[in-house]
Parts: sequence; C-alpha cells; structure tokens
Amino acid sequence: MTLIPLPAFNDNYIWVLHDGRRALVVDPGESDGALNWLGSEGITLDAILVTHHHGDHTGGVDALRQATGARVIGPSREIVPEPLDRVSDGDTIELLGLRFEVLDVPGHTAGHIAYHCANVDGRPLLFCGDTLFSAGCGRLFEGTPQQMLTSLDRLAALPDDTRVCCTHEYTLSNLRFARAVDPDNTDLQAYEQHCQSLRERNLPTLPSSIGLEKQINPFLRVRVPALSEAARRHAPETPSNALGVFTTLRAWKNVFQ
Ligand SMILES: [Zn+2]
Ligand SMILES: [Zn+2]
Repeated sequence: MTLIPLPAFNDNYIWVLHDGRRALVVDPGESDGALNWLGSEGITLDAILVTHHHGDHTGGVDALRQATGARVIGPSREIVPEPLDRVSDGDTIELLGLRFEVLDVPGHTAGHIAYHCANVDGRPLLFCGDTLFSAGCGRLFEGTPQQMLTSLDRLAALPDDTRVCCTHEYTLSNLRFARAVDPDNTDLQAYEQHCQSLRERNLPTLPSSIGLEKQINPFLRVRVPALSEAARRHAPETPSNALGVFTTLRAWKNVFQ
C-alpha cells in the first residue's frame, strides 16, 4: 500500500491510500487535485472518508463522488454531503482489503471521527482529521476541553508506531508554541530542526507517529510536570490536573504569537 499526501489550499493534505489499482481518499476539501492524480495514475477511487463537516474537508466530496462513483463514509452526527454511509464509534469498514475501525473523537467539532487501521503493511495507520496535529491539536469549535482531552488520550493510547495522518501542515507553527511551553525538551528541539529542513525543501512533515507525538506534543504531555508548571506560570489559577493543564494550554495557544 502507498500513502500520499496531496496538497490542497494553503496547508491542507488530502490523504490518498492505494494499492496501485484502487484508492481511498480522506477529507477532500476540493476535487481537482485528486481527480488529476487518479487520472494520471490510472487508479480507481473506491471510497471517500470524511472526518468532520468543515468545508475544507468536504468541499470536493460531491464532485469526486459524481466523477468516480466512489462510496462516501462519514460521521453519523454531522452534516456531510449526502448520500453517505454514516459511521460512529466501534464501527468497522472493509476498504482495499483493509479493516478500518471508527473512533469518536469530539472536541474540534461535536461529531468528529477518526479512522484507524491496525495493520497496513505491518504498521497501524490513523486518519485523524483536525483532532491531533503534529505538535498540536485542533481548536475547540464545538466541543469542551474535557471532550478533546478524552479524544486525544484515546489516540495517544494507540501503538507508538501508528502513522498519524493529520489534515493540516501546521507543524512548524505548532512547534513554536510547543517550544515556548516545553523549552527543555531536547526531542522537541531535534524534531523542530528536522521539520524545518523538510519544509525548506517543500516536503510534508507528515505522517507523524503516536510515539513521536507523545515525546513532543504539549497536548499529549499535560501530565508531565514541565507542562503543568508552564501552564501555571501562564495562568496561576490553573488546576494541577490534566484537564486544568490542557484547558490552559489550549486557550494560551489560541492567543500565542
Ligand atoms: Zn476542521
Ligand atoms: Zn481543517
């Protein structure tokens, strides 16, 4: 299986997974790039996976469905262009000979889902939309901090070698905040240099991995003393529990320059 991030808009990726003959795409905010790619490779689109209702993840669904006849799969509790197969937590879907499990991960939106496959050529794979980013997490547009923390904890519990396919190339900007709140983390410093060198060559920093994110992502490190100390320096009333630290870090990131 081959995994490709097709760039879209300013900083979106439309993930394509294919076996040389058939493909699935995730969160097509537009259709032209994917249609051109499918045509040039001579590959058939089997399925379109949608993680949440935002337009930069769904804007290309109708055109792709019409052009290819692909099946559309999306979250049961959100408004996504019909017709689609609605799925929610615990559902499994067979695609390209692979078995994907659906995880409910509310927080960025109320009905956001992620797709996890335990074995793609020997490694797990995760399509997590705008829930987990490399070195960051999605904004809380519809959910509560508790919901997002629970969602991130579920993703962090996946195996360390899980490849993490997020929808946005936000890594360098997330890393500026991560370094401000976790300045003594040497893994973080090394990862930032690595990502800068990738972006200078216009290469994606993704996919990441769960193991890496647990080392460098402040929103997966809210139980680490350095992060709770940083949160309390910024907002002294921050409760010392994981939810308190997460809530302060997420609000701080919104205004961080
Ligand atoms: Zn979104
Ligand atoms: Zn998005």
